[in-house]
Amino acid sequence: MEQRPSWRIVGSVDNETEEELKKEFSNSLEEDDLLVFSKEDQELIRTNEVPKTEMQERAIEIANEESNKLMVGMGISPYIIPSKNIHILPHDIYIKITGTAKNEIGISYPMDQNIFFDEEGIGSSYPLKFWTNIFHEILHLKAHISVHAVIEKETGDIHISEYRSGVSINSPQFKDKKKDSYRYFLGLHEAIITDIEKKYTATLLDLPELQEQKDWLASEEAKSIKKDLAHKHHISEDEIIWVSKDKDINAQYVSYPYFRDVFYYVVQEIQEQFKDQFPNGEFIKKEFIKSYFTGQLLPIARLMTDTFGKQGFRILGSMKDEESAIHVKKLLQRTRMEIEKNS
Ligand SMILES: [Zn+2]
Repeated sequence: MEQRPSWRIVGSVDNETEEELKKEFSNSLEEDDLLVFSKEDQELIRTNEVPKTEMQERAIEIANEESNKLMVGMGISPYIIPSKNIHILPHDIYIKITGTAKNEIGISYPMDQNIFFDEEGIGSSYPLKFWTNIFHEILHLKAHISVHAVIEKETGDIHISEYRSGVSINSPQFKDKKKDSYRYFLGLHEAIITDIEKKYTATLLDLPELQEQKDWLASEEAKSIKKDLAHKHHISEDEIIWVSKDKDINAQYVSYPYFRDVFYYVVQEIQEQFKDQFPNGEFIKKEFIKSYFTGQLLPIARLMTDTFGKQGFRILGSMKDEESAIHVKKLLQRTRMEIEKNS
């Protein structure tokens, strides 16, 4: 039997409706895959979609394989996101459909398992960009998902909205297909994904298709560019995925460094607190990844409470952008210091 993602439905619908909804969502992997969009938008997507190159198809295949390995390792049923659910659109159409105001070149819709890319953003000047970005977005789709469903009393219409995705929780006001509503644990959610993505670069560079890039990045010239960039931006070299030969030095970095900075700090302190239980930070990261796939927050909430006190987990949940990440880290450092002082 083919593996399917497992959606959890919360809200006020009966069992029958719940089963029907689940079936409908599962179908998005096989048939009608643009459920959350209006008929007009569906048409716009279908008529403008850019055909994928052989290399892009391969990148999708590898991203599916590697994310599935991770899921199996966590005891989660793996499944494949078909290429037809991944849509590359010309820039203006991409903006119109996704409504994204930020410079996001890719966006995922976990509820109906679709991914959109801006053709311009994944352009050829960064040879690893599509490879890492498709992995990133596929991880978004394969996270735990729960959907909030309510039946409107008068009309009997069913309203559905994304309630949980991975470790993140949408605020109840969320009902628009366009993003940017308030999401708790958004920063942690992205930190978990990008930390996995960071390790993925090594896997990619072992592929025969990317041998040329591997050789380039191993050259003395590339190493020296990387070193200079790391020095200039005060970051570690492993934050740089790829560098170019040109004089302006374009480079691809791992996204969301500020979220991961907080995440790494949290992991380090938890390990300090639970030295006997976790021999190193990777074991703690695994707990976070497990929560990401199962949606069960209790194990990581406990680790946070035991390390940073009662408010620790709630504070971590408020991290949503660069500014709040800096603030969250300071708050956590303060609570940690107080706990250590009193113990
Ligand atoms: Zn993301």
